[in-house]
Amino acid sequence: MERKIFEFHCHYLFKMSKQEMLDIFKEEFENTDVKKVCFLSIPQEYSSKGELIINKDQNELGLFLKKSFSPNAYAFAGLVHPKKYYSKEEIKKDFLKQVESYYEQGFDGMKMLEGYPTFIKYTGQGIDSEIYDDFYKFCEEHRFPIVMHVANPDENWNILEADKYAIELGRVYDSTYPSKEEITNQVFNVLKKFPRLTLILAHFGFFSKHYEDAERFMSYQNTYLDTTPGGEQFIHISKELNKWMPFIKKYQDRIVYGSDFYAFIKDENFEISYKRRPTFLKQYFETSSTHTYLGEEFKGINLAKDILEKIYYSNAERLLGSPKKIK
Ligand SMILES: [Zn+2]
Repeated sequence: MERKIFEFHCHYLFKMSKQEMLDIFKEEFENTDVKKVCFLSIPQEYSSKGELIINKDQNELGLFLKKSFSPNAYAFAGLVHPKKYYSKEEIKKDFLKQVESYYEQGFDGMKMLEGYPTFIKYTGQGIDSEIYDDFYKFCEEHRFPIVMHVANPDENWNILEADKYAIELGRVYDSTYPSKEEITNQVFNVLKKFPRLTLILAHFGFFSKHYEDAERFMSYQNTYLDTTPGGEQFIHISKELNKWMPFIKKYQDRIVYGSDFYAFIKDENFEISYKRRPTFLKQYFETSSTHTYLGEEFKGINLAKDILEKIYYSNAERLLGSPKKIK
C-alpha cells in the first residue's frame, strides 16, 4: 500500500529565502510521504518573558506557499492583533473585517495560537473573549475551519513534572498564568455560543489526561483533533489504551494527521529535525513494538489499516474539500 499523508499542521517560521523554503519543503515532503499539506500562519506570538514577537508577512507567505504547491496545498490565516486592547468593540469589528478578507483572498481556514498560555496572559484576552465573537460567528456560518492551539501539556503547570525542554523554553506556568482547566473551559464557552463551529484542536487538545473533556469536545458536530505531538500525549494514551482505543475508533472520521512540520534550516541536524515527529507518529501508529522519543520509551498502538488511512489522509481531504481559489 502506498503511504499517503495529508499534513494538516505545517509552519514556515524559519528565516530563509522563498526559493530555499520551496526546495526544502519539496525535499522534506518527498521523504515523509506528504502528498497534501495545510500551511498554518502565525503572525504573532509571545515569548515566555512576555515579549511580543511579530512574524511579518506570515499570511502573505502562506498564500505564496499554497500557490506554489497548488493544487495540493491549503493555507490558514492568522488574525493580526493590535498592540493594545484599547476598545473591545473596535477590535471585534477589525477581527470580523480581517476574517472576511482572508476568506475572500482564498484562505481555507484560520489558525489560532490565541489559546497558548502566554498569549492569554500577556493579552489579557481568553479565547472566549467577546473580541472574537463576530469572528467565530463568521467562521461558523461560512464553515470556515479553525485550527486552535489550546493550553499545553498538564506537566507544564508543575515544575516538578515538566520535562527539561519545557523548562528550558520557559514553558512552565505559575499562578500568574491561566490554568489548563480555565483555558479548556474557554473552548467550551466558545462552543456553547457557536456549536456548529468547525474546530480542530491541535495536539489532540492536550486531552490525554482528560478523557471526559475529550468526549465532551467531540460531542459537538464539527469538532476534530489533530495528532501533532506533544509526544507525551500519545505516550499517556498508549498506557491507557483500554479507554482510548475505543475513543479513536469511535471518532476515526474526525481525527486528522499533523506533525508540526517546518522547513528546517539546512544545518547538520536537518534530517533529524524534520524527520523526528513524522517518524515518531509512524512508529506509534504503525507498529506494536517499543521505541524511544526524546529519551522516553513508548510502545506503538498498531492501528487498523482502514482507520490509519482516514487519519493520515481522507479525513482531512473530506474536511477541506478542494483548495479555495486564490484571488
Ligand atoms: Zn504548531
